[in-house]
Amino acid sequence: MLFDPRPKDNLKDLFDRESEIALLKNSLDSPLIVIIGLRRTGKTSLIKSVLNDTKSTYIFLDMRRFENKEYIVYKDFIKSLEREINEITRKNKDLLSYLRHIQGVQVMGFSVSFSWGEEKVEISDVFSELNDWASEKGKTMHIVIDEAQELIKLRGYDILPSIAYAYDNLKNLSFIITGSEVRVRDKFLKLEDENSPLFGRAHIEINLVPFSKETAIRFLEEGFKEQGINFPDSEKIFDILGGNPGWLTYFGYIYIKHGRDEEKAILETKRYAKRLLSREFCNFIKEGGRDKRRYLKVIETCRKGCSWKDIKNSLEALEGREINDGTVSNIINNLLEYSFLVKEDRKYMITDKLLGEIIDV
Ligand code: ADP
Repeated sequence: MLFDPRPKDNLKDLFDRESEIALLKNSLDSPLIVIIGLRRTGKTSLIKSVLNDTKSTYIFLDMRRFENKEYIVYKDFIKSLEREINEITRKNKDLLSYLRHIQGVQVMGFSVSFSWGEEKVEISDVFSELNDWASEKGKTMHIVIDEAQELIKLRGYDILPSIAYAYDNLKNLSFIITGSEVRVRDKFLKLEDENSPLFGRAHIEINLVPFSKETAIRFLEEGFKEQGINFPDSEKIFDILGGNPGWLTYFGYIYIKHGRDEEKAILETKRYAKRLLSREFCNFIKEGGRDKRRYLKVIETCRKGCSWKDIKNSLEALEGREINDGTVSNIINNLLEYSFLVKEDRKYMITDKLLGEIIDV
């Protein structure tokens, strides 16, 4: 069902995205695939649908669980890995005999426990054994790290050398990393930083953008048709909510669930989006000890697109005094880095129409 609000895990429920599906399918044996996209554009849905369709074996590490944490420690990460590996060992008991050799791993019955204390498990050892197991089976094991930018907050441990080691040596492992553009590619993977363990590694990049107007309208029409509903206002809904598949899906879901009340469904969707976006924005403010009023002002100013000078003027009007250029650029760059803003033709725009709704957080 197109309007199912959970991530899709089946290609028949995934709307459009034909070229992204084809590219991902054709790249499944690449060592590193990076899927870039704003929140709720369908990164998880694309990966799960394709990996299930191709009957691939995969571990799905959902780093969203750390969204509200100020920092993450090794234990947090290793426990996520342990949980996901136990999902696989349940169906593949022979994997246990590979894992039991690793220092810091305890096998109990049909599950494993990873130590994070003194004799902690080395992630590269786990990758090595997963590779050997996959190689023995003649398949590729995919390690998905969803919203990987959260791992920038990992303290006291660097996971990149283990990924680089796997990239170079473990031919039966493939990493699929998702996240927002600047943070995951430039700040986490640091593929273009010569001091990074992953520097210069070739990778496949898939960019998921929100639906265009035409696609969004088709999506809504198809979704309603699937439910036997003739819905005439798809264009209006796009104009209000924009093309983010997550918001459109939620709108359709609520409209059907709550007695086909369009106004109510719009309001509910805005409330839902606002909650998610505000949480993300508040984390961003807290993480960097940033001045919330200034950042909200810039978001408000960029609702319909504006120049650097417009932003400077709006900040000066807010504070009733001059603000130096470096401070203005710093605020803009932080918002670009966290994908709240995008720069197009020398204009700055909010990346999601509904970001304009968080003004009063
Ligand atoms: P992300 O991982 O980028 O945050 P999700 O895969 O969780 O995005 O998708 C967000 C929401 O939008 C989910 O409800 C999902 O079902 C829906 N969705 C996203 N893309 C599509 C698509 N192409 N077809 C159908 N539903 C989609």
